[in-house]
Amino acid sequence: MKPAAFDLARPASLAEACALLATSGDNARAIAGGQSLGPMLNLRLATPALLVPLAPLAELAGAQETATAITLGASVTHAAIADGLVPDLPPGGILAGIAAHIAYRAVRNRGTIGGSLCHADPAADWPCTLSALGAVALTSDATGKQRDIPLDDFLLGAYRTALRPGEILYAVRIPKPGAGARFGYHKSCRKPGEFAHAMAAVLDDPGRGIRRIAIGATGGRLLRAATADAALAALASCGLDLVAQQMQRAALRQALQRAGLA
Ligand SMILES: Cc1cc2nc3c(=O)[nH]c(=O)nc-3n(C[C@H](O)[C@H](O)[C@H](O)COP(=O)(O)OP(=O)(O)OC[C@H]3O[C@@H](n4cnc5c(N)ncnc54)[C@H](O)[C@@H]3O)c2cc1C
Repeated sequence: MKPAAFDLARPASLAEACALLATSGDNARAIAGGQSLGPMLNLRLATPALLVPLAPLAELAGAQETATAITLGASVTHAAIADGLVPDLPPGGILAGIAAHIAYRAVRNRGTIGGSLCHADPAADWPCTLSALGAVALTSDATGKQRDIPLDDFLLGAYRTALRPGEILYAVRIPKPGAGARFGYHKSCRKPGEFAHAMAAVLDDPGRGIRRIAIGATGGRLLRAATADAALAALASCGLDLVAQQMQRAALRQALQRAGLA
């Protein structure tokens, strides 16, 4: 199928893009890499009268690094992260390792970290991994009001975020793990690059007194826990069938092992 007809805006700034979204309400949608929204338009699951492209906006581009965090613009693509074109996290370039296994190259070339978080697919890689890393979503609206929203509060459930009408995610801030921290991630897919059927991310950061576990691909809101026992208990009561639970337990075990916790 082809998309229903739509107009294409040409906002010159983040403020202008927010204003277009705020004044057009449900008739407008932001579009970043189009890798999730494009198929929805083609299938007419979304029929906005106006598309507001985010890729040309300077405020959503680039990356910064400080002693304690890196901040990636929402328009940074999976490919740029996989290719090491933006700052990464120790130990061992955590983000590049995640990005390299999202879909395949053509999707990674266009798909963005911000688009992935805003689409909030429960089986996507960034929501699960960045939640375990304690990332914060940075948003702005048409009045210029900015909010820093911890991902645990930003990601409300399957395809649901805390974004308000007219609000745009312009960046994500990811704290740097401390010395001696370990991170483990595992996703289970039938074929490489597919969406996961089970996934878990674990951060053990003794220097900062942090241990975080996130489990995705449950069909709903990410499961979060501070211990393996609590994660297993959450899995047992989240409504998955026994086969799915078994796959999730296996993914969790792998992630825990990689983080040195099993
Ligand atoms: C074949 C295929 C396989 C894939 N496999 C995987 C996979 O294995 N793992 C994985 O994680 N993902 C996968 N994806 C999804 C891919 O990562 C997408 O890039 C991502 O989900 C959406 O990013 P985007 O930039 O394309 O966003 P878009 O499709 O442009 O937008 C998605 C949604 O977010 C909104 N939006 C986008 N950016 C912003 C913003 N900055 N502020 C506010 N709202 C915004 C849009 O309005 C839209 O509702 C796959 C996609 C395809 C097509």
